[in-house]
Amino acid sequence: MNARLIATDVLIVGGGLAGERCAIEAAAAGHEALILSLVPPRRSHSCAAQGGMQASLANCAKAEGDNPTVHFLDTVRGSDWGADQEVANIFADEAPIAVRELAHIGVPWSRVRGGNNHYFIKGEEVEIDEALENDGLIGQRDFGGTAKWRACYAAAGTGHAALYAVDSEVVRLGITVRDRTEAVSLIHDGSRCLGAVVRCLRTGEHFAVLAKATVIATGGYGRIYGQYTSNAVINEGTGASIALDTGIVPLGNMEAVQFHPTTLMPSGILVTEGCRGDGGYLLDKNLNRFMVELEPAKQELASRDVVSRHMAQVMRDGDGVDTPYGPHLWLDIRHIGEAHLRTKLLEVWDICRDFLGISPAEELIPVRPTQHYSMGGIRVNKDGEAYGLAGLFAVGEAACWDMHGFNRLGGNSLAETLVAGRIVGRCVAKHVAGVSLRADTGVALDAIGAAERRARDWLTRSGNGRGVYEIRDALGEIMMGKVGIFRTGDELNEAVAEIGQLLDDCDNAVLRCKDPGVNPELGFALRLKGMLRLAMTVAMGAHARTESRGAHFRSDFPLRNDEEWLNRTLVHWALEESAPSFSYEPTGLIDLPPGHRGYGSDQRIEMKQSVDNYNETVLDEQTRHGRLQSSEDMGSRLQRGAWQAYVH
Ligand SMILES: Cc1cc2nc3c(=O)[nH]c(=O)nc-3n(C[C@H](O)[C@H](O)[C@H](O)COP(=O)(O)OP(=O)(O)OC[C@H]3O[C@@H](n4cnc5c(N)ncnc54)[C@H](O)[C@@H]3O)c2cc1C
Repeated sequence: MNARLIATDVLIVGGGLAGERCAIEAAAAGHEALILSLVPPRRSHSCAAQGGMQASLANCAKAEGDNPTVHFLDTVRGSDWGADQEVANIFADEAPIAVRELAHIGVPWSRVRGGNNHYFIKGEEVEIDEALENDGLIGQRDFGGTAKWRACYAAAGTGHAALYAVDSEVVRLGITVRDRTEAVSLIHDGSRCLGAVVRCLRTGEHFAVLAKATVIATGGYGRIYGQYTSNAVINEGTGASIALDTGIVPLGNMEAVQFHPTTLMPSGILVTEGCRGDGGYLLDKNLNRFMVELEPAKQELASRDVVSRHMAQVMRDGDGVDTPYGPHLWLDIRHIGEAHLRTKLLEVWDICRDFLGISPAEELIPVRPTQHYSMGGIRVNKDGEAYGLAGLFAVGEAACWDMHGFNRLGGNSLAETLVAGRIVGRCVAKHVAGVSLRADTGVALDAIGAAERRARDWLTRSGNGRGVYEIRDALGEIMMGKVGIFRTGDELNEAVAEIGQLLDDCDNAVLRCKDPGVNPELGFALRLKGMLRLAMTVAMGAHARTESRGAHFRSDFPLRNDEEWLNRTLVHWALEESAPSFSYEPTGLIDLPPGHRGYGSDQRIEMKQSVDNYNETVLDEQTRHGRLQSSEDMGSRLQRGAWQAYVH
């Protein structure tokens, strides 16, 4: 084979938790797997996850009575009924397996201490006796939007512990990892995905990896919000954008963007929801605990969309603390005490000390909401198969598997990466066992040629166009200002026009550094158009969705509208087309009928048709589009009505 073509069974684009867990499953089934990553896998964004991973282990007193059905209920309510309920159900069933698996491979979970324990609940100190027989079991803490304490944690470094353990398994299995290597386009023949064109970030050279299955596990696209995100600088959404570029594979629910309530002001570094789970609270500039009045039932532990909105409103009303960088609120965890902070919230302690120069045991933490999580992504079915191209899969934050709908619950993402990694990895292994690698090498060489021309074009441009980082910063301001926590039709229209202008600017932008090899500016320039196109799908999708659901809040359409919008947005946009096209599919089979979430607004436009009618439409649509294919029969995992025992 040509030296510029490499062949493997499974190509996994992304070395975070989702990609690595998926690779382990494929390799364990005897297939050759190759992982690509922008950075050494242990520096993937998964490493930054702090507070916990949800799984209904029911090991401590406040988790008593928890089980996968209660976890399913919380997840669907958290999603504001935007989630695929079958997927949420599969997920809740398998999350406990994922947590125990991690314990088995070395994650040092924080443990239950039998006997008398001091906790803070809703800001009050309480004493609870943990059963002595539970001493030493995996412990759990409270998180937002859940009925039980369910977040398993390794202090506040859960992602770090999980990723190091999973990566050690990758090493043990001898899976090949090529870091500092970026997938820049997908190779396909219109119906099958054949692999990807990749670019070495050290030399700038391009080559192709041909594979029987290609898995995109590239994480979220938070960086389209510029500085207003808790995401790492590598979270630029390239996996989603190369799928979008095909014009064949749709992205799902791109307008569903999560804002996390507590990121440090002004750096945007996150402090975990575990701070509020362990008893911390939010204060305005007058040190008033506003969440008690605004959300009496869940207070600071309503879902993230609800808390972020209240915080944004409090600041709009002038009760934020003014600074040259804009207003912020306070997070108070002083009362929790240094001993707790330096053990169970150790990473928060360190972050406050290193990035703010304060001790959180003595001082208030300045926080404000910023972009945090991408619920949208490459639309896949239950098995992780992307729509449109056989042999293409997606998993983790890059995918819209769709257990989060319009709002992800804290702790459900780490769990998703591992649960979905295992499930999708099994399906990939099954797929690979049934196909042989037959690819037209001419298609691959053409794709390499196109990628090389793109890089050359950037390096040879001259003139006085804008710089790529200037365009990036302008995009962040537009996204946070006009496609943020509160959205209106007028502002979204403006955002669409302004992003359109940035796309034109991008076509004329020039580089300062013309080196073809190690050149971060060139690497970024090659991603910039994709980021702008993703941003456009978010803004246009948000403009089209004339309702409010979860994190998508339209001030001009403030009600959730289950009559017209109980559906998922799909967007296609081939690279050569001037504008994206939108369509919609039903959310999926409904088991828990739409209702009040138990926090946030109870006002909504109700669905008029019956759940049975809706479900018939779902099955019709799925059959029509051939999207039923799955290793499980449709709905086999959904034990209809099991939730009824838990809803009074
Ligand atoms: C600060 C912070 C704290 C969080 N805390 C929690 C928490 O406590 N609990 C929870 O459940 N969730 C948490 N989350 C969310 C969770 O961490 C992420 O959603 C999850 O880890 C994503 O994992 P992933 O494997 O999908 O992607 P990532 O971990 O982001 O990995 C993506 C991988 O793709 C690679 N990559 C990207 N593009 C390319 C390309 N084009 N070519 C090759 N490789 C590429 C990257 O190098 C990386 O290896 C947190 C998120 C943040 C930002």
